[in-house]
Amino acid sequence: MSDTPSARFRARWPESSSRPVATPLQPSVVYASSDPDALDRQYEGQEAGYTYAREGHPNADVLAGLIDRMEGATNGVVVSSGMAAVTLALLAVLKAGDHVIGADQLYGRSLRLMNEELPRLGMKTTLVDPTDVTAVEAAMRPETRMILIETVSNPTLRVADVEGIVALAAKHGVLVAIDNTFVTPLGMRPFDLGADIVIHSVTKLLAGHSDATLGYVAAKDADIAERMAVLAATMGMTPSPFDCWLAERGVYSFDLRFERTTATAAKLARVLASTHGVARVLYPTQSDHPDHNRAIALLGDNGGHMVSFELVGGRAATNAFVKAATDLNFAPTLGDVATTISHPATSSHRALSDEGRAALGISQGFLRISVGCEPADALCEAFTRAIATAVAES
Ligand SMILES: *Cc1c(COP(=O)(O)O)cnc(C)c1O
Repeated sequence: MSDTPSARFRARWPESSSRPVATPLQPSVVYASSDPDALDRQYEGQEAGYTYAREGHPNADVLAGLIDRMEGATNGVVVSSGMAAVTLALLAVLKAGDHVIGADQLYGRSLRLMNEELPRLGMKTTLVDPTDVTAVEAAMRPETRMILIETVSNPTLRVADVEGIVALAAKHGVLVAIDNTFVTPLGMRPFDLGADIVIHSVTKLLAGHSDATLGYVAAKDADIAERMAVLAATMGMTPSPFDCWLAERGVYSFDLRFERTTATAAKLARVLASTHGVARVLYPTQSDHPDHNRAIALLGDNGGHMVSFELVGGRAATNAFVKAATDLNFAPTLGDVATTISHPATSSHRALSDEGRAALGISQGFLRISVGCEPADALCEAFTRAIATAVAES
């Protein structure tokens, strides 16, 4: 071992004939090669090896491989956020002059991309109701390249006509991109239904602990997938290795969390439906949901982990309820191990006018629940108790 002054700046990795069972966290930004020939072979793809973390790193690839298996994909890319994934899906395919159709209840920032950023870059966009395939067909133009939808919408939990849209897109040679964040691959696998691109905010259920911001996108077509990987590196959508490492351990418990939270959500939806002070409950597989039949066809008997409901008594009742629900986080996110409640009128949908919200059925009494892993009975009781307090006070 050389004892030159510079050796102090190069730690030696201890030898071990056994291997770690947990994936090592690898934060290295850059990788040293033995000589230019070796580096050349790496760049030419003749030898595996990392060069620079923005171009790819092991923790991102480990995570992408796990999500690929869940989605039945082979070439997914993990990026720095769910919005990076949505952006990548759009920009890897579209160019100025192209037209894209989006669902009218997409995630807020996705709507902003459609309404502001893509038009600024010379792309044309139309928003339509994805539960109505006739409306989607009417929006088709010769220059339409892509349809972007979410299977279950936020926060009214409407279910898109995925099969109808996929068939329509195939007829017109248009790509279908599905943001599968809410539904997850255990609820539905878009590639199995004929989608071309799958998007996730890994931040939500897949990572599941509200401590990592990440996205994932995969394409069925190998050329599009390759363009996505190149564009992600070029535009700097690199995910943090630490976030990838956290999300990986989240993914290992995802099946269990999914089973638990969806069973609890179905129960909570039933309990809320018969709770005094609740005007209505929205849960996709419940028989009074407007898309009930489609939900059953697409998702089986699994209605997911999100439940929305409306309190009688508007904003006053909502304030009283949230204050009384001290065990529950009032926070505009979803997919965490702990239950979270959000109030769309003051968060995700605050930019809309009262009329705009009314058209979507989002009143001041409207609340969205992301059901967590708490024991079902205790959770239902926390809700009924806080609602009873709100009824008494408002
Ligand atoms: C949260 C979310 C996004 C954005 O993901 P970030 O990781 O927060 O950037 C995109 N789509 C849906 C459906 C989401 O819920």
